Amino acid sequence: MAGTDVTVVGAGLYGSSLACALAREGMSVRLCERRSPTAGDTGRSFGMVRRHYSNAVTVSLAKRGCELLMSDRESAYVPTGYLLTVSPAQRAACEGNVALGQSLGVDTRLLEPDELAAVEPLIDAAGVGCGAYEPDGGLVDASRYTLARFAEAVSLGVDVSMGAEAELPDDGSIVVVAAGCWSKQLLPELPVELHRIEIAVLRDAPVRAVVSDAVTNVVTRPVAGGGAWVVTYGGSTQYAQRDDCDGEPDPDYRDAVRSSLASRYPSIAGAPYTGGWSGAYDVTPDWNPVVGWVREGVYAVAGLSGHGLKLAPAIAESAAAMIAGREPRIDLRPLRFERFAEGDLLRLAYGPGARA
Ligand SMILES: Cc1cc2nc3c(=O)[nH]c(=O)nc-3n(C[C@H](O)[C@H](O)[C@H](O)COP(=O)(O)OP(=O)(O)OC[C@H]3O[C@@H](n4cnc5c(N)ncnc54)[C@H](O)[C@@H]3O)c2cc1C
Repeated sequence: MAGTDVTVVGAGLYGSSLACALAREGMSVRLCERRSPTAGDTGRSFGMVRRHYSNAVTVSLAKRGCELLMSDRESAYVPTGYLLTVSPAQRAACEGNVALGQSLGVDTRLLEPDELAAVEPLIDAAGVGCGAYEPDGGLVDASRYTLARFAEAVSLGVDVSMGAEAELPDDGSIVVVAAGCWSKQLLPELPVELHRIEIAVLRDAPVRAVVSDAVTNVVTRPVAGGGAWVVTYGGSTQYAQRDDCDGEPDPDYRDAVRSSLASRYPSIAGAPYTGGWSGAYDVTPDWNPVVGWVREGVYAVAGLSGHGLKLAPAIAESAAAMIAGREPRIDLRPLRFERFAEGDLLRLAYGPGARA
């Protein structure tokens, strides 16, 4: 530990990205991982990238994060297009978020129900009020990108320590807690709940784009071989600790997926289910991340609330600048830990939930 400026706990997407960014700031970094860089929720990610958010800080972070992911061949970025479909009652909220995105330079536009099939031919638009479309939204590979950051950290001289559970150092050095859903075990004051999330894998389900439907709460993406990954939001399982989630699929989930696909994607609702996996979202009261100082010398990047992948490169860049005492590229103060005690929560155009 001698000579270490900052210790990063966790080497998943966030810990590995932060270790690189801190090393680029000229700091001497120690990176501690109890298992492996993709052992946590990074290795379970759906892989979706988009910039449709309700707040300027998250739109700006997603825009910068996507720029960095899309220009890095290690992310395996594929521009499938990203489409959010909403109910007629949610139309005004959707228009507001599209206008916010456009004002911040995002390539996004509103689509009417009769325009949706041009993006995703399998969609049935019944009950949809409108869509928000990002032509260059799509997919990246979270594990591949994280392993590349981990390798880069090693090449930048980061001191990597694997195989042991790290604790908060008590020698006065700076510590960055980036332990995903395990962060709350190190910092019980974090206002984070752990919500189960499950991905189902379907064969013979040839969707083309990444589509998130806020009416039926089903999210779909293409995978190799003409199949799809599908998420159905709406379960209520929470975990006291991340290790309580064993990662296995729930046998009843396939029926939930089938019934949520039935109205929006009738042609694939009966597609063969070939398996899946589960993980957890680390959810804050306003479904937005906590980024900043939590205690003296302790910085946390936690509560990613299901948005972690596309935000990671931008949060790492600006958080590292902050820790190094420089002006960050993006002002992270709206994500500060104190906002919960101050009652200064971020707005949610669609109410509580992963759409934020
Ligand atoms: C199923 C699922 C789908 C998702 N889909 C998307 C998506 O489509 N788009 C998107 O933007 N985001 C998505 N997310 C969110 C995103 O993938 C996560 O926010 C992100 O990958 C989490 O990265 P992390 O580094 O914070 O956590 P993790 O990847 O969980 O890494 C934390 C690491 O810390 C280690 N650790 C824990 N405690 C200790 C300790 N005491 N000492 C040392 N090491 C420790 C763990 O072993 C682990 O490797 C999804 C999340 C899930 C669960």
